[in-house]
Amino acid sequence: MSRVRGPLESPERERNGHNVEHIVRYWEQPQIWGEHLNSLDHVRVPETIGMIPAAARTIVEVGCGNGRLLNRTPATSRRVGVDLSATALKQVRGHAIQASCDRMPLATGAADLVLCADVLEHLPDDAMRATAEEMKRVTRRYLLIGVPFEERFEAGRVRCASCGHVYNQFGHLRRFTSASLDRLFRGYRPVATRFVGGPRKYYSRSLLWIQQRLGRTYWGDARGVVCPSCGSTDSRAPKRRLDQKVIAKLGYLANEAVDRLMPVRWKPAHEIVRLYERSRRI
Ligand SMILES: [Zn+2]
Repeated sequence: MSRVRGPLESPERERNGHNVEHIVRYWEQPQIWGEHLNSLDHVRVPETIGMIPAAARTIVEVGCGNGRLLNRTPATSRRVGVDLSATALKQVRGHAIQASCDRMPLATGAADLVLCADVLEHLPDDAMRATAEEMKRVTRRYLLIGVPFEERFEAGRVRCASCGHVYNQFGHLRRFTSASLDRLFRGYRPVATRFVGGPRKYYSRSLLWIQQRLGRTYWGDARGVVCPSCGSTDSRAPKRRLDQKVIAKLGYLANEAVDRLMPVRWKPAHEIVRLYERSRRI
């Protein structure tokens, strides 16, 4: 049975089945860790690296993956990468530690700067909060955080062809605003912010609900997905009746019309990257 939230329910997060075994299997797939940077990476990687203060000599990256960011930090810095995926860590140039982000085998105050990009949106609430606290423990001074900005994650949903579970194909579980990010890092003050990539295409939550719930229309054959509920990799799009196709098409066309009419300045960037500094001595 699918567990999609209705449009009026809040807060805005996926109620994903979150079987850790399936999640780990997804991140151990070698094909998702190519060296190649996608078009958004070409913008956000240099923008993020450019925000690292010169005073940051020891940099710990939490959820560093294959070192896409860490490997490009200043050569003079001491690099430490933490990730759960042994497959990804093989490409890290620096000290690589296989560990969970919420329990890092690092001393308190071990880093001048803790970097964490495109990780928090993947974590269930408890793990996300624990990871944020762990990052605060490990850094002496700075936190550099990147997350998708005001993402309409419902637009990336696939429906598992085996169990019917509906989930975001990238494993994103929630939508971040500047304020929700700041709340997570209480005790730290934002000292620099960059909005990178964009503008983001507009998606109406209600029109997506119409397309998905009434029209049974989801992404098909999403690359490399593993259902977080049952572990199946089959994400073929569901079969639809004619009336469902018509409803989905109308929802799609209405969304396209709003997207075209909406002024670009109203559309958020793809990503927010924010540098925080500890605001009090501990
Ligand atoms: Zn499934």
